[in-house]
Amino acid sequence: MRVGLYGGTFDPIHNGHIHVIQELISRKIVDHLLVLPAGQPRLRDNEPHATGAQRRAMCQLAVSELPAEISKCVEVNPIEVLREGPSYTIDTVEAVAQNYEGDTIVLIVGTDAYEKIDQWHRADELKEMVEFVVIDRPEFPGQHNTSVDAIAVSATDIRAHKSDAVPAAVAAYIKEHNLYASK
Ligand code: ATP
Repeated sequence: MRVGLYGGTFDPIHNGHIHVIQELISRKIVDHLLVLPAGQPRLRDNEPHATGAQRRAMCQLAVSELPAEISKCVEVNPIEVLREGPSYTIDTVEAVAQNYEGDTIVLIVGTDAYEKIDQWHRADELKEMVEFVVIDRPEFPGQHNTSVDAIAVSATDIRAHKSDAVPAAVAAYIKEHNLYASK
């Protein structure tokens, strides 16, 4: 089995992420997908705006809105949100791999994240342990060719109210919790 790990800040999860999730499952690029909201992301200038619990809840709402044949293959995993302090991807991979012995771990990353891969903790070991699927983002064009095309939306645009491309349940959650109001 191919187990995909899709990590991100998901502040909030948006239709670009959802498109990736649907393509990965419907095209059988992975058989099972773990969506991993980050606890305390590094390599970012700013802290997330929403709490880990809120970002996890929005991921869960978004996954539950997916068609059943997709959502049954997708799970939101809170390991990084629940961990104290920053998470390194390799720690998450090692923890997840214990539950999927004999399976191939596939890391899903955007071109923007992949370009910084050598700065990641224990990058060489990580590259040995996983396969990468790199998603080209229109605003970060790269050389990678997956069959997954990106939709031009970012969480930054959502937070700045330049885009409202989020699943309906996520839009309702943002409104209810008054997230991103002053941005
Ligand atoms: P921000 O605008 O706050 O930086 P983001 O929209 O880039 O956020 P992240 O949570 O940082 O979202 O993204 C998680 C993962 O999803 C990263 O690997 C990122 O490259 C990828 N990703 C983000 N937006 C898209 C998109 N529109 N299409 C495809 N992949 C995306």
